[in-house]
Amino acid sequence: LLIIDSHAHCGVGDRYPPQSFEDYYSAVKGSPISGVAVFAPVMEIYDRYDPFFKDSPTWQQRRKTANDYVLSLSDREIDVFPYFFIWNDFAADQLTHRHYGIKWHRHDDEPTYNYDDPACAAAMAAIVKRNLPIVLEEEFSNTERFIDELASDATVIIPHLGMLNGGFRRIAAAGLWGKPNVWADTALASSVEIMEYIRCYGHRRLLFGSDFPFGHPVSELEKVLRLNIDESIKEDICGNNLMRLYARIRHADIETFQNKE
Ligand SMILES: [Zn+2]
Repeated sequence: LLIIDSHAHCGVGDRYPPQSFEDYYSAVKGSPISGVAVFAPVMEIYDRYDPFFKDSPTWQQRRKTANDYVLSLSDREIDVFPYFFIWNDFAADQLTHRHYGIKWHRHDDEPTYNYDDPACAAAMAAIVKRNLPIVLEEEFSNTERFIDELASDATVIIPHLGMLNGGFRRIAAAGLWGKPNVWADTALASSVEIMEYIRCYGHRRLLFGSDFPFGHPVSELEKVLRLNIDESIKEDICGNNLMRLYARIRHADIETFQNKE
């Protein structure tokens, strides 16, 4: 049984709570979790408490340090799949062939992404070219615009079954869950909503995730393993679906891109 956590934050810049890779590993050691998709903590990417946040070289450097840390986590006790946390400078030139996904994150009271910046469309094209999945946490109106317009050719994973993207039902009512390129993760979602998702949309685009350090990977896994569903469905949610997604990433194109630099 292959069990991969598709949603964890790791970094050494934000220590509240402690969330280094070592902290993650000590939480899962001895459990059947054998791999993890990792992205930087939000606090290392932008100042979420300043709605008038203006980007600066200091923050760009901070982001690079945070993203580089994630990328440095190879050859560990468990498999690490690094994601690139993208922000307002849309620094898609920092994508490498070692990335497995993109983290895109904002809450409704936080500084905004400049969706109308041409650099946003260019970054999206770079992401789509590599077929990297995007873990998108955004307020509802931007989630809808993102999926319908900006990222209509991208694979989008809505975390927490939509809890922080407007809610499970609002996303269902907008018809987003049914789209073939929209996936979901189980991090901190209720068992009731997970079961409803499976009943309505099947289990093929659903991923086990923990949202470490906000969720405990082992208890989040136990929540999925306790569901009253076939073992084969659990196996798909816990690892097979994610591997199917990763198999579609076009690493070769990224290699070419890197070589051109
Ligand atoms: Zn998260």
